[in-house]
Amino acid sequence: VGVEDIMKLVGCWVICCTVALVSGSVGPSEEKSLPTPAAAWERLKEGNARYVADKPAGPRRDARRRGDVAKGQSPFAIVLSCADSRVVPELLFDQGLGDMFVVRVAGNVGDRGIIGSMEYAVGNLKTPLIVVLGHEQCGAVKAVIHGEVAKGDLGWLLKQVHAGKTTGNNKGPSLADAIALNALFQAKRLSAESPLLRESVATGRVRIVAGVYSLDTGAVRWLEGQTGKKP
Ligand SMILES: [Zn+2]
Repeated sequence: VGVEDIMKLVGCWVICCTVALVSGSVGPSEEKSLPTPAAAWERLKEGNARYVADKPAGPRRDARRRGDVAKGQSPFAIVLSCADSRVVPELLFDQGLGDMFVVRVAGNVGDRGIIGSMEYAVGNLKTPLIVVLGHEQCGAVKAVIHGEVAKGDLGWLLKQVHAGKTTGNNKGPSLADAIALNALFQAKRLSAESPLLRESVATGRVRIVAGVYSLDTGAVRWLEGQTGKKP
């Protein structure tokens, strides 16, 4: 290693530090590794593609990762999914420990407890992406479009599901349409009801998207009309 090489290295170091300072990329440690909303979404799409192809990587599930995340978490995505046993976000997006902040409730409804959990992840953990994930053959949506009435807290929960309105000819949406409508409704509801989520979306720091998971193929179909920067 000659003097010239050393000078080159020092030069690189100075340039890198300057670029980092100017671009503001040196921030609190928990934010350093967090991707943009678009990059976070891309990671989920790639993971789902591996799962659909039956070639999951099963990443970041070993003892070393467990030890790393025991010190703190910085999940890159929040996922609101149904409690249905066949819809498991970490598996279908092929992610590992500490990657996703998952909230699950029947019908993937954005009630106050769910929104409060998301406010924690967005406000404290700086998570950049929120996914509302409906799924095929959702029993909660099916119950609502069939007009079923349930007792107790299940009755309250079903009232949170939004399956679309009955049309003039008294024919409501199909189950598939109702599932998509509910996912989009819940996605919009998050920013409508939470000032923190609304402001985070407005500044572009957070993006909210909705999708429907296929029980048969394992694929997530991303929905049009997703609530992006301008919901
Ligand atoms: Zn369901």
